[in-house]
Amino acid sequence: MIDYRNLRVALLGAGVVGSQVAALLLKHADELADRAGAGLELAGIAVRDIDAPRDVDLPRELFTTDAESLIVGADIVIELMGGIEPARTYLLAAINSGADVVTANKALLATHGPEIFEAADQVGAQVYYEAAAAGAIPIIRPLRDSLAGDRVQRIMGIVNGTTNYILDRMDLEGAEFADVLADAQRLGYAEADPTADIEGYDAAQKAAILASLAFHTAVPLEAVHREGITRIDKTMMDAARRAGYVIKLLAVCERLTGEGTGGGDAISVRVYPALIARAHPLASVHGANNAVFVQAEAAGNLMFYGAGAGGVQTASAVLGDVVSAARRHIAGGVGVGESTRANLPVVEIGRAVTRYQITLEVSDLPGVLATIAGVLSDGRVSIATVEQALIDPATGETTSTATERGAATARLVIGTHKAREQDLSETVERLAESDVVGRVVSVLRVEGD
Ligand code: NAP
Repeated sequence: MIDYRNLRVALLGAGVVGSQVAALLLKHADELADRAGAGLELAGIAVRDIDAPRDVDLPRELFTTDAESLIVGADIVIELMGGIEPARTYLLAAINSGADVVTANKALLATHGPEIFEAADQVGAQVYYEAAAAGAIPIIRPLRDSLAGDRVQRIMGIVNGTTNYILDRMDLEGAEFADVLADAQRLGYAEADPTADIEGYDAAQKAAILASLAFHTAVPLEAVHREGITRIDKTMMDAARRAGYVIKLLAVCERLTGEGTGGGDAISVRVYPALIARAHPLASVHGANNAVFVQAEAAGNLMFYGAGAGGVQTASAVLGDVVSAARRHIAGGVGVGESTRANLPVVEIGRAVTRYQITLEVSDLPGVLATIAGVLSDGRVSIATVEQALIDPATGETTSTATERGAATARLVIGTHKAREQDLSETVERLAESDVVGRVVSVLRVEGD
């Protein structure tokens, strides 16, 4: 057995993830020491309540409520408390006292990342955050290291397990949103207050982190366009299925070049429910799993897939970071800072370019299609496909026999070629005001081509 130098590891938080990290650090101490080239001594675990029940049995003497004292003298500080404060203050204190830090805190990095990275740069420390973007899935290191010699063009990520679980069940079972959400809450896939997941806040934080790394630009959370999945209903799901698509909540981080970017490159970062072709690899991401699809100039298409959450799964990513931090600590030298030198402008959603599927209820009269085509063409939105179905006035469902029963309304599903979001939304407003359109049923972006 090699007599390694011991590094002091301070753990802040022993909840879903922290308790698993502590258990694995203790259980695999020898193996981790061999991999890290240093003993990883768990010096203590800071929590709010020492007597709170834990998911795993951990030695009581390791627990403390005094996080500040625990940080002093630590070589590596692992922050798994979550939230902004006091996590931010503790991380900054750890960095300033010479520790390398590991965190899974997406909320903190998406809002205070530049401040934390700057503090680390000042003292030559390193911030590790593999678990902050998609749980167990290695995506931070591939973006930061493996693709450092390439140019990322686009990332499309399913980065929120709760919403993927809900949309997947709606797709597979034809269920309604509210029913699946209630089930997800009962099974522990969704929180009692599901807002952060279903309104896209969690995915937006991850999108900001991924875009910052991929495009070497500090992307503030406010620059991420965000829409949730609460308006997705069974009718939209059924229509998507019939058209060969599935609806997924996607985080799209994209490099824009050419027209509309003012000459140089710019980036667009957005989170919304979008249609994706069933043949696309992201369409096969089921249940609460996550996946990140990366398109890079030289590497081409890459996909990273796996568990985006879960205590022990996330602990795997955290421990990988701890081993990296230990290796760096032993090797010495300054940490590698976050590169934000590209400093690309982040454009508003109006300048994003994508395809759309517009569903309208229209009067079933001659000339209607020509009127609608005119509105679209005036708005610089070009039609790729049109499908029409009549609506049965008795049931409100589409039918092929409704005409005999007196239907005067039809449902039009229009697929567009690529258009600018700004042009599209102005055109949809004009369609909504048009005499021949009864109702704009839905407008969904089509991603993945
Ligand atoms: P959690 O279950 O709520 O655990 C939080 C822990 O932090 C608890 O042990 C709590 O102490 C402790 N804590 C909170 N405030 C504290 C304070 N002021 N002082 C001292 N200790 C404090 O959280 P989690 O689910 O493990 O998540 C931890 C982090 O990992 C978050 O940033 C989260 O976003 C991220 N993450 C989680 C997952 C996941 O699957 N859960 C996946 C990826 C990333 P008590 O136990 O005494 O209450």
